[in-house]
Amino acid sequence: MDSVTESLRELHARIGALSGGEVASYIPKLAQADPDDFGIALTSMAGRRYQAGKSDTLFTIQSVSKPFVYALALSDLGPEEMLRRVGAEPSGEAFNAISLEPGTGRPANPMVNAGAVATTALVKAADPAARSARILDRLSAFAGRRLDYDEEVYASEAASGDRNRALAYLMRSAGSLEDDPYSVTDTYFRQCSVRVTAADLAVMAATLATGGRNPVTGERVVAQDVAVRTLAIMATCGMYDGAGQWLLNVGLPAKSGVAGGLIAVSPGRFGVALYSPPLDAEGNSVRGVAALTEMSERFALHLMQVPVHLTATVTDTVDAARSSRARDPERAAALDRDPRRIVVVGAQGDLEFTETEQLLNAVEEAVPAEPGGLVLDLTAVTVITAGPATMLSATLADLERQGHRVAVAVQEPFLAQADGHPGAWLRTRDDAVAWCEEQFLADTDTDGPADA
Ligand code: GLN
Repeated sequence: MDSVTESLRELHARIGALSGGEVASYIPKLAQADPDDFGIALTSMAGRRYQAGKSDTLFTIQSVSKPFVYALALSDLGPEEMLRRVGAEPSGEAFNAISLEPGTGRPANPMVNAGAVATTALVKAADPAARSARILDRLSAFAGRRLDYDEEVYASEAASGDRNRALAYLMRSAGSLEDDPYSVTDTYFRQCSVRVTAADLAVMAATLATGGRNPVTGERVVAQDVAVRTLAIMATCGMYDGAGQWLLNVGLPAKSGVAGGLIAVSPGRFGVALYSPPLDAEGNSVRGVAALTEMSERFALHLMQVPVHLTATVTDTVDAARSSRARDPERAAALDRDPRRIVVVGAQGDLEFTETEQLLNAVEEAVPAEPGGLVLDLTAVTVITAGPATMLSATLADLERQGHRVAVAVQEPFLAQADGHPGAWLRTRDDAVAWCEEQFLADTDTDGPADA
C-alpha cells in the first residue's frame, strides 16, 4: 500500500472512533443518513486518487456546491460585477442567517444561504431549466464524471425549504435579487441535491488546488484568477460561524455541507474531502473537522506557515569560465591575455521572490568590480513568475550599464520570451560563455584591448 493511503487509513481508523454531533434533520430525508458512514479521499496535483473508508458512498453535496457555483457565476460576471451583487465579508453567522447589507440588501458572502441563492440566480442561462443544467454540467466538470441528482432529497428540501424561500423573498424586496424567488430557490435546491462521493469531492477540491484545471481529466474548468478568488472566499467564509476558528486552527480554504461533506484545499498540493454526517453546533462535520485539523498539523499545511525551501536556488558559481569552442591559436592567445573574466552563476527550480533575491545576491557577490562577462545559467529553472522576471531584468540592465557583457542561458519556453530583456539569450551555458568570449574578441579586434 502506498504511504498516502496508509496515512489516510490510519487517520480514518482513529478519527472514526470519535462520536458526538447530530445528523441534520431540518431536511427530513437527511435524517436517514447513517451516522457511522465515514470516508476520506485525497486527489493530488498529479491526479492520483487516494481513499479510505466509505469514500464511494453517495450523499448530497448541499453547501459544498456553493464555492463551485460561485466560481461559475464569477466566470460569467467578472470580479467587479460579482462583488457588486454578492459581498465577500464573513458574516460570522449561521449558514441560514438573514445576513443582508443594510440599505442595499446585498448578501454578506456567497457561502451563507442568502448569498448562495443570489449567486445561483447570477449563473447565466435562458431559463431555470437551462440554469440547472449548466450548474450540473460544471459541477460534473469539477468532479470529472457525470453527476446526477438525489430526487428524494430534492423533494424533501423543496417541501421543507421555506426559510430559504423567505431569504429569497427578502432579497427580492430589498432589490438584491431580480429573479422570481420561488423559482431561484428551486434551482438552488436542485444544486444542493446533486449526488457525490468523498472521492468526487476530492477531485473537485483538487481542481481548485491546481488553479482551475481538473488534475484527473486535464480539463480547464475555470480560469486561474477565478480559482484564486473562490479559495479566498472559502478561506474567510467557508465554515460559517466557525470560519475564524477554522482559519486559526486548520488554515486552509474549506467548505462544509449539511449532509456531512467537507472539502479543504491545499493550493498546489491537493484537494481533500471527508464524508461523515454528524455535525457540530456550527453545522460542520465533527469527524471532518477533527481529521482536517490533524492533517493540517501533520503535513504543515497551514496557509500562514512560512514555506519551506527544500532545494537551493544557486547551483554553482564559476569564477573564470572558458567555453569549449575550438579557436585558432591567435584568438585563443588573445583571450588568454584578456584580463577580463567571465563569471557564471547557475540556478535551478522555481524563481519566486525569495529564490530570485538569493540568486541576485549571488550574482552581486560573484561579479567582478571591473567590467567583464556574466553568464546567468537558468537552464535548470522551471518557473519564473512576473515580479521576479522584472527583478532579473533590472539587474541585468544595470550590469550592462556598468560595462559587463551579459548572457543568459535558458530553455524553452523562456527562450522565446527573450525579446525586450537585456543580455544575449542562448540555449546552453557553453553557448553563453562563448558569446561573451566573442564579445571580448570583437572588442580586441576593433579597438585593441577593450576599455568597456
Ligand atoms: N440545502 C441546504 C440548505 O440550504 C444547504 C445548507 C448546508 O449545506 N449548510 O439549507
